[in-house]
Amino acid sequence: MMNVAIIGYGNLGRGVERSIKQNSDMNLVGVFSRRQPADVQTDGAKVFVMEDVLKMKDQIDVCILCGGSATDLPEQTPALTADFNTVDSFDTHALIPEHFTKVDRVAKENQTVSVISSGWDPGLFSLNRLYAQSVLPKGETTTFWGKGVSQGHSDALRRIPGVLDGTQYTIPNEGIITRLKAGEKLTLTTRDKHFRQCFVVVAEGADKEQIASTITTMPNYFADYDTEVNFISQEELNAQHKTMPHGGTVLHTGTTHENSHQVIEYSLHLDSNPEFTASVLVAYARACVKLAQEGKFGAHTVLDIAPSYLSPKSGAELRAELL
Ligand code: NAP
Repeated sequence: MMNVAIIGYGNLGRGVERSIKQNSDMNLVGVFSRRQPADVQTDGAKVFVMEDVLKMKDQIDVCILCGGSATDLPEQTPALTADFNTVDSFDTHALIPEHFTKVDRVAKENQTVSVISSGWDPGLFSLNRLYAQSVLPKGETTTFWGKGVSQGHSDALRRIPGVLDGTQYTIPNEGIITRLKAGEKLTLTTRDKHFRQCFVVVAEGADKEQIASTITTMPNYFADYDTEVNFISQEELNAQHKTMPHGGTVLHTGTTHENSHQVIEYSLHLDSNPEFTASVLVAYARACVKLAQEGKFGAHTVLDIAPSYLSPKSGAELRAELL
């Protein structure tokens, strides 16, 4: 039995609690939060204040860090890795090398293991890009995201004056996916690959035309995409657009000979992005504990960990059932 602590309880933390219930080799020690336990409503897990985690060190095999990538994980992962084996979902792609170096140093100094940047992207998508590019070196990899809610783009909508609430969907261009799979060689711009669809609730009397123009011309978020803006009521937004679906496709098209066109496609269709991400973190928590038992201290990513480490089954069982 592996004893797991959840660090931080938002969408991902709740997902980890649910996932642990589906894994009979895992025991949830509790949730550790920066808030007071009375302010954290779990699905039944015990809640402790963050300061108590060190007192419970000998009861915890691995901490699953569920804080945000922007400001929580850059601090929390190195700090906790000094005392615990850790798993995080750090997803600021450009800063992953720096995060790795920092956590690796702490883990090696303190003889712990940390699996950083797991989840689906980075995570399972990264792994599939690596498999595809290693198997078909003469080829092109393209990643499409969606249809799904982008929290960052939804937040950007809500920051516009006059906007009360909003949800943004990222939608992949299926026509382009079909053409790539058919073997066409395409030079793709950002605009070619994805559409953006916004559902926005505005204050009474707000200038909808002005708001639509602010959205579609917003640099870094919408200006480089074809963006559709829909104004709806708060009731409709609450009823239709408050879940967190996501997914996407890693598509690799390659050739092994002039007439041999090969396609590798890995797709996810997720009703709940955080619950799925959490399920990946839990599988990597199992790998993390196994690596620690073997003394493989330091930071690791999904690219470094053998797939069998994710499974509760033995090597013999996996060879008999899956090969
Ligand atoms: P979130 O709900 O905002 O939670 C982040 C932290 O905020 C929690 O750990 C919690 O810490 C605090 N918090 C949550 N609810 C709160 C509330 N009501 N009041 C005050 N504080 C609250 O974020 P999330 O949706 O779980 O996502 C976490 C991270 O997962 C994202 O930043 C993203 O980087 C990552 N992610 C990665 C992937 C991937 O594929 N790699 C996919 C999806 C998400 P305390 O309990 O300590 O207060």
